[in-house]
Amino acid sequence: MADLAKLSIHQVTLLQQCTTPQFIETMAHHDVRCASLWRDKVREHGVERTAALVADSGITMSGYCFGGLVTSPDAREAARARDDVRRALDEAAALGAPCLVFVAGGVDPAEKSIANARTRALDGIADLIPHARSVGVKLAIEPLHPMICATRSVLSTVGQATRWCDKLAADDIVGIAVDTYAVWWDPDLEAEIARAGKRICAFHVSDWLVDTQDLRFDRGMMGDGVIDIPGIRAMVERTGFDGWVEVEIFSQRNWWKRDTDEVVETIQERFESAT
Ligand code: ZN
Repeated sequence: MADLAKLSIHQVTLLQQCTTPQFIETMAHHDVRCASLWRDKVREHGVERTAALVADSGITMSGYCFGGLVTSPDAREAARARDDVRRALDEAAALGAPCLVFVAGGVDPAEKSIANARTRALDGIADLIPHARSVGVKLAIEPLHPMICATRSVLSTVGQATRWCDKLAADDIVGIAVDTYAVWWDPDLEAEIARAGKRICAFHVSDWLVDTQDLRFDRGMMGDGVIDIPGIRAMVERTGFDGWVEVEIFSQRNWWKRDTDEVVETIQERFESAT
């Protein structure tokens, strides 16, 4: 079972309870040594002020979430989206985050071409590589569940992420974020994680509830759903991955409504018993 020293908590897990300073304070209070920050919240508080808070707290950053959505067929809109990712990379660098979680983007409803959307996503990443390199922040491309392919991510599997990495040939600055919630259903998961190997640069956990009410905002606490989280973790760690295990729970109907201490204590308990 998981060693608490590897625990990272994503700010989105306490999205509705905490401001950014309150989140950092909560992490420190519960002796959580690593966290990942949510871009909207950071910008609300101010990037520089947040960077100073993080530095003072001594809390390590496992990532910054998120940038991307670069699949628009409109050239101006696509350029604007890429510029926004560059700003997100700058912010991640200021915060000391090693990677920016990259969400590809969906399918244009007028164009109706997933193939074109995928091509543009890949071209977009290629275009962002020099900037990522210049600020020293990895683009952690994150496959997301295919049910949100239309709106969020035309990148859906770890295998597809590996093929994109093959094409990009930039392993120094492009890696893969594996999120249990997004990829657990994949019949080829074990082989694909093995093939992704050293490219895996981030690992996110949460559970899939049998009676899920919302594909994005109803994630479950580890142990409450159907995902074999320790099993997937073992697959990831067999690649040599030795990084943080980041708990990322979007939960409108449950965890966002609970007391912060209760959420963090439950995470710590389930990290040991069900991760
Ligand atoms: Zn994730």
